[in-house]
Amino acid sequence: MSFLTKDSERSETSEKDSTSRGQLYSLPPLGYHYYAFEPVLSSEMIDLHYNAHHAGYVKGANKAVDDLAEARRSGRYDTIAQLERNLAFNFSGHVLHSLLWRNLSPNGGGAPDDVLADEIERHFGSFAAFKMQLDAVCMTLQGSGWGVLSWDPLGRRLLIEQVYDHQNNIGRCTLPILVIDMWEHAYYLQFRNRKEDWLSAYWQLIDWHDAARRFAMVRQAGIGL
Ligand code: MN
Repeated sequence: MSFLTKDSERSETSEKDSTSRGQLYSLPPLGYHYYAFEPVLSSEMIDLHYNAHHAGYVKGANKAVDDLAEARRSGRYDTIAQLERNLAFNFSGHVLHSLLWRNLSPNGGGAPDDVLADEIERHFGSFAAFKMQLDAVCMTLQGSGWGVLSWDPLGRRLLIEQVYDHQNNIGRCTLPILVIDMWEHAYYLQFRNRKEDWLSAYWQLIDWHDAARRFAMVRQAGIGL
């Protein structure tokens, strides 16, 4: 089977292909200053995380989309497997970091109330049991990854997922509500190897109103099954 596209098909594809025009993904505004979480989280760490790491995933996701458009234009698919890996990694990195900044608030902490609190109790037994499972997921990651509270639209229930890198070990249709970044770049500058201290700081800053707002949205979602 040839992956080469005929010239006539190629020109038609490129005219219809709008994905390479402009930048599809962009760094979302933080909504607060880098020093908003001082002294719990250092401004230097937030600045670097946002402007170096998150910005890198945005750039990588846009490049992957552009590279795929170029592959379609040229009809060359010899690097397609790597391009698809780049897309999954960088796009997922962008999504998770965008969620991370929304999940934090200088006025955060405590526990959820209302509907999300009830659902957490229903699916995990209690808030304490939920926190214990999510902490265990975060602390036992091998390498880089995330602890994620997700909504499963198929089973219509909350799940806790242990995500490797940004895109591995995820149920295919789950929607993230609350994410905890356990990559070393998230904490090493301030907490060195004490990831339990980073985790403890994170719980102090969780914006449960943001989580509740997202939960209300994702539970409307379906996948047509
Ligand atoms: Mn990160």
